[in-house]
Amino acid sequence: MKKRWIAMLLVTALLTACAGTKIDVENVIPTEKIEGSSLYVKKVEDLPDGFIMGMDASSVIAEEQSGVKYYNFAGEEQDVFKTLAENGITHIRVRVWNHPYDANGNGYGGGNNDFEKAIEIGKRATKYGMQLIVDFHYSDFWADPGKQMVPLAWKDMSISEKSDALYAFTRDSLNAMKQEGIAVGMVQLGNETNTELCGESHFENIAKLMNAGGKAVREVYPNALIAVHLANPERSGAYDGFAQRLEAFDVDYDVLASSYYPYWHGTLENLSNVLNGIAEKYGKKVMVMETSYAYTGVDTDFSGNTISDETSTIVKDYPFTVQGQANNVRNVIDTVAHVKNGIGVVYWEGTWITVGTSSWEENHEKWEKYGSGWASSYASVYDPDDAGRYYGGSAVDNQAMFDPEGKPLESLRVWNLVRYGNEIDPVADAIADTVLAFDLKGTITLPETVNAVLSSNEQKAVPVEWNVTEADIEAMYQGGVKTYEITGTADGLPARAIVSMINFNYLQNFGFEDGTLDPWQTEDRGGADQLYVEEKVTDSLNGVFHAHFWSAKQDSVDFSLFQEVKDLPAGKYSFTISIMGGDAGDAQIFCYALVDGVEVGRTPMKITSYGEWDTETVHGIEVQAGQTVTVGISVKCAGAGSGAWGKIDDGLLNSES
Ligand code: CA
Repeated sequence: MKKRWIAMLLVTALLTACAGTKIDVENVIPTEKIEGSSLYVKKVEDLPDGFIMGMDASSVIAEEQSGVKYYNFAGEEQDVFKTLAENGITHIRVRVWNHPYDANGNGYGGGNNDFEKAIEIGKRATKYGMQLIVDFHYSDFWADPGKQMVPLAWKDMSISEKSDALYAFTRDSLNAMKQEGIAVGMVQLGNETNTELCGESHFENIAKLMNAGGKAVREVYPNALIAVHLANPERSGAYDGFAQRLEAFDVDYDVLASSYYPYWHGTLENLSNVLNGIAEKYGKKVMVMETSYAYTGVDTDFSGNTISDETSTIVKDYPFTVQGQANNVRNVIDTVAHVKNGIGVVYWEGTWITVGTSSWEENHEKWEKYGSGWASSYASVYDPDDAGRYYGGSAVDNQAMFDPEGKPLESLRVWNLVRYGNEIDPVADAIADTVLAFDLKGTITLPETVNAVLSSNEQKAVPVEWNVTEADIEAMYQGGVKTYEITGTADGLPARAIVSMINFNYLQNFGFEDGTLDPWQTEDRGGADQLYVEEKVTDSLNGVFHAHFWSAKQDSVDFSLFQEVKDLPAGKYSFTISIMGGDAGDAQIFCYALVDGVEVGRTPMKITSYGEWDTETVHGIEVQAGQTVTVGISVKCAGAGSGAWGKIDDGLLNSES
């Protein structure tokens, strides 16, 4: 105890000696549990003492300039940095762009996060006992896996000139922070630099730039950690490949940091495996540098959000509620805390809320003037294709940890409560969406129960009342292939069923998306050189897989590809399949149907050239109960010199009666 006290005195003395200005630190980060919260939080076991609980708050200054006020839990207006610290945030992350302004001094937006903004944010973070994570994008505006544009002032530089400029920029920025007495805990060498950095894509150049930045960090803040930041942990082998190259080019860094947006970036289990792998193999510290989740599906600033109730292309492991948001944070912390060398989790832009509540016009004026939207129209000179076209407000206001009025959400307390747990009785927090598909020729039966998602994120079946009439159901039978949203009520909460009326396909693995042929079968009469399932999105009719064939010898393409279906309801069916290919020579290709081994129909097909799909159907396949139906495609080509080739995809066995 005493030893630690002396060590702390020494650190304070050193800080005072180095810094030009001393900030009076008011340490408000709680060291005990915040009592009385209505948030359910399962304790994270064995959470290390110094675990980073971070918040990226880059846009706060632009928000405040736009008139946004932030409050504490008592409802009093208060410095948002104090409120963050009071709820367990230990680190504030801030992005730094070189020069996010046009020639007339109009800001590009996204907080207009230049170096001066970082200084102001750093001072306020330090004041409340938090450390700063400096996120150098080394660009004049947003850098991510899709773009890493070089700052205009460095545009025509050679790689060694650019390295020198990057070194000087990093050194001078950090020196100025040091002069102000800002506690910098970590510095990032670029943002989501998976493929490029500062306009450079050759790894030798990327490494050179990173080492130039790292050198400046070591000189100015020798105790700060150096982080390399990547995105897309779900892409197999991507991080390991990057870490290998960092090692091969001798890049000096301490932390490999990952973005982790749960609705895009794979499972927590995969994240854990990827980070563990890096820690084990390369001995680096690892962390999540960006995560967030929606507390509502509703947009509040008149500028569309990246995820909403209407987004169908995302993984939704938690409901869009305050509790769901907190559960995501809790589970990400739990995952990183149990990874080898896992040091922390940073939430992205939890303070980026709407700048006004009346209209798009009102907000637009502020976004343009103060840069409080993701991009202003002025950004078009630098980034014409993206910001220049889609400029607007916040796409993450529904993922903030403050409501549209600037009041903190209960989820903000998760940063404190994960240490102690707050395992109050779980209550129903939301009703999980029910996703259904019915055959247009079948029967629509809506379920009598749905799953309530509890505050503990467990699910429990509860009775539901659907708001649907017999006339609605009849209209769905008559409406053809279409998707409907049916609302209801369960346990006093709104329920929703997404019902797709489809032509039900009785074939399994119909488009080969399982990556195997099974349960399709082949009869390879000619002994083709290649006949297998191939993964290639550009050669597939839909999805990424298809059945592929090729053979070098004449007459060796002669096969059938078919599937047997038992236990079909009695009735009339159709079979459809698609093929493309070429070099067929003299060819006999057809799709066919057998009932109990007897052919009942066939339709000729053809292959011509690459990308020309031929889709054909066998109609009127009559099936009695208990009969076995076999549907398939038969391909026989003489080959035009070098042999025939082709792709087969999407077999459909639909009801016709
Ligand atoms: Ca929005």
